Amino acid sequence: MVMQEFPQSRLVAAVPSSPSLATAQRARDIQAAGGDLVSLTIGEPDFPTPPEVVEAALAAARRGETRYTPVTGTTALRAAIAAKFAQENGLHYDPASQILVSTGAKQAIYNALTATLDPCDEVIVFAPYWVSYPSIAQLVGARPVVIATRPEHGFVPRPEDLAAAITSRTRWVVLNYPNNPSGAVASLEQYAALAEVLARHPGIRVLSDEIYEHICYDGIVAPSFASVSPQMRERTLVINGLSKAYAMTGWRLGYAAGPRDIIAAMSKLQSHMTGGTSAVGQAAAVAALAMGSSYAARQAAAYEQRRDLVLTRLAASGALRAVKPNGAFYVFVQVLPHRLPDAASVADYLLDHGVAVIDGAAFGYPGWFRISVTVGQEALEAGCERILKAFEG
Ligand code: PLP
Repeated sequence: MVMQEFPQSRLVAAVPSSPSLATAQRARDIQAAGGDLVSLTIGEPDFPTPPEVVEAALAAARRGETRYTPVTGTTALRAAIAAKFAQENGLHYDPASQILVSTGAKQAIYNALTATLDPCDEVIVFAPYWVSYPSIAQLVGARPVVIATRPEHGFVPRPEDLAAAITSRTRWVVLNYPNNPSGAVASLEQYAALAEVLARHPGIRVLSDEIYEHICYDGIVAPSFASVSPQMRERTLVINGLSKAYAMTGWRLGYAAGPRDIIAAMSKLQSHMTGGTSAVGQAAAVAALAMGSSYAARQAAAYEQRRDLVLTRLAASGALRAVKPNGAFYVFVQVLPHRLPDAASVADYLLDHGVAVIDGAAFGYPGWFRISVTVGQEALEAGCERILKAFEG
């Protein structure tokens, strides 16, 4: 008897798989089959997890820290996260009721949106956006309201754009600076202008994904949205994690800090989903946070050089416009409209020319593509060469 395909729920069927992960996998498959491909897709550091962090995990395992942990995270890690916010952001959170440790920042964001949204609620997301924000909102039947930011405004939303997008159904505004994929970093003044609009709408909460906080260039420091004012601090859920700053993507450690009611709702959801995340991972995270931002700064110095290499190389093309990023580890590139290929997407076109990138459509910004600079200089040079060649003539 032939098994019939088991139908997906309506909500899951309506959401695409993560397009960036799918492209990265396609690139890996081509490479595994012996294909000549330079992959500039991956959104994770090419640095190793610091050895002292690995040692802390091993020591925890040997001590027998291998059991369930509290749903919201170990006491030691929540205290370390609270100390991080106090020292680096001047923000004071109660580790017992205002901090939640999750299995990656992704789960923290998922928890926040699904624990608070009902069908038809609206979430304002600014494009270009990290791929998962709209999908997570859709997974609970809520409506992502996507507003495009523009390169001439540094890819930071203007207060009037925010004001025009707000309706009586708006529950959350999602901010992500430093931004994936544009690399934009919002200044405290730009945040303050957005806060002025939000002050008129007390029912709205802000989800500020600050996972690239310490990957900044040219001496720029990325502020936390919650530090704009005490009022905004009360209404902001800050999302952060260990993946990027400490090269710990595989450890799956993220966290949220913010209002007690939201943290409580997220914790309830997490208690039924994953419970507390890995015990040894949390011990590793305590050791990582004790390092401060030094490891991220070391990475940022390398990424900055690579960014400059990409910008210099691509400047030679008459078909492309790369916007200088101030942070994160990507370069976002526009294919000038009259030079857009006929292929289904820019990424498909470039794949045929031996280089894998993430298509701008994945970020709600078609006609653009994202290059990740988390590869060595040689691969980056080869990738740029192929991109230039693809758009030659
Ligand atoms: N937020 C942004 C903006 C990201 O780019 C990523 C990963 O690419 C995440 C969240 C997810 O981070 P984590 O590995 O902690 O789940």
